[in-house]
Amino acid sequence: MNIFVVNCGSSSLKYQLIDSVTEKVIAKGLCERIGIDGKLTHNPTGKDKFEETVDMPDHKTAVSLVLKALTDEAHGVIKDLSEIGAVGHRIVHGGEKFAKSVVIDDGVMAAIEECNDLAPLHNPANLIGISACKALMPQTPMVAVFDTAFHQTMPKKAYLYGVPYEYYNDYKVRKYGFHGTSHSFVSKRLLQLIGKESGPSKVIICHLGNGSSITAVKDGCSVDTSMGFTPLDGLIMGTRSGSIDPAVVQYLASKLDISLDEVIDILNKKSGVDGISGVSSDFRDLESASNDGNERATVALEMFAYRAAQYIGSYAAAMNGVDAIAFTAGIGENNATVRKMICSYLGYLGFELDEEANSKRGEEIMLSTADSKLKVYVIPTNEELAIARETLELIK
Ligand code: AMP
Repeated sequence: MNIFVVNCGSSSLKYQLIDSVTEKVIAKGLCERIGIDGKLTHNPTGKDKFEETVDMPDHKTAVSLVLKALTDEAHGVIKDLSEIGAVGHRIVHGGEKFAKSVVIDDGVMAAIEECNDLAPLHNPANLIGISACKALMPQTPMVAVFDTAFHQTMPKKAYLYGVPYEYYNDYKVRKYGFHGTSHSFVSKRLLQLIGKESGPSKVIICHLGNGSSITAVKDGCSVDTSMGFTPLDGLIMGTRSGSIDPAVVQYLASKLDISLDEVIDILNKKSGVDGISGVSSDFRDLESASNDGNERATVALEMFAYRAAQYIGSYAAAMNGVDAIAFTAGIGENNATVRKMICSYLGYLGFELDEEANSKRGEEIMLSTADSKLKVYVIPTNEELAIARETLELIK
């Protein structure tokens, strides 16, 4: 069966068509600038890439252009829409309502809408994507896969903040965590690799990309994670500050004579390694600037690694030990320098780095030496495949 995986943003739509038997990508692509003008980039596997600048006033038009591209005689990959067995939608925020993926019906749509307040930029766009697909494929089953769902197993002591309890009761102020699909996918693979798919286990997943988070996974379940009420919390990221004394927000608003919203915007978009270095949010640029002697780029890299090592340490303490760690996402899979910097803090856990293994990138690798007590791996994430698997599982 072919599964159509849809990731809808406010002005974009990313998609993949995945064969659920071979788990191969049949086609993938992206609609950009929806509601502004519009561009479709369609990559059918084994055929030439197709690009089209075309008016996309709304998401329904974007979905219909994608479906046309998928069934087109020249650059299509299927004959007609009946060859799409199901649609898996990535949904950013499921609040406390969704602890796992669900088949979408009207009640689910309403419940996702009730979470809009918690992710005002993302959830409304996700819902528009569902409606657009439903309008064009009314008979095709659809599944919602939530970024937050994997973390719903966190205990209260991990997800509550030290603020009056009423704010949790009345406004649902708590840690939710994100990147759940990736943490779930990578932790399952890590548990396979260390032979602990069942029974007790303690692992830590480091999803290090432009947005980064680290999760403690005990017996296969998330027990703590570094992102919080929003994805701004935790690690220092490409442009996000990560954890910061909240008093700084008010102090900066007063010093810069700007609103709290504007300070939060700075913490989201102009901070992180980009703001620290003044060079870039991209770790390739940072590394080359650091190699050229740029001190702020060097300190940005050091801060990133230091913060990551602090989270790893705190989760090892929280679980009273750790069997294995996995690095994943753009930086975790590709950046040997950053991995080595983080690994340099792991000696106390009985870890020894295999330098030659660490020089590889973009593939599954064991970074620890054979003698190392702590096993550390690179495991490429694949959120689309994870969504396709969840979708298949639910509609079977
Ligand atoms: P993501 O958000 O997962 O796509 O990750 C983006 C980050 O991964 C950027 O900071 C990139 O510098 C980093 N990255 C991606 N590919 C490479 C690569 N080949 N070498 C080093 N860093 C990379």
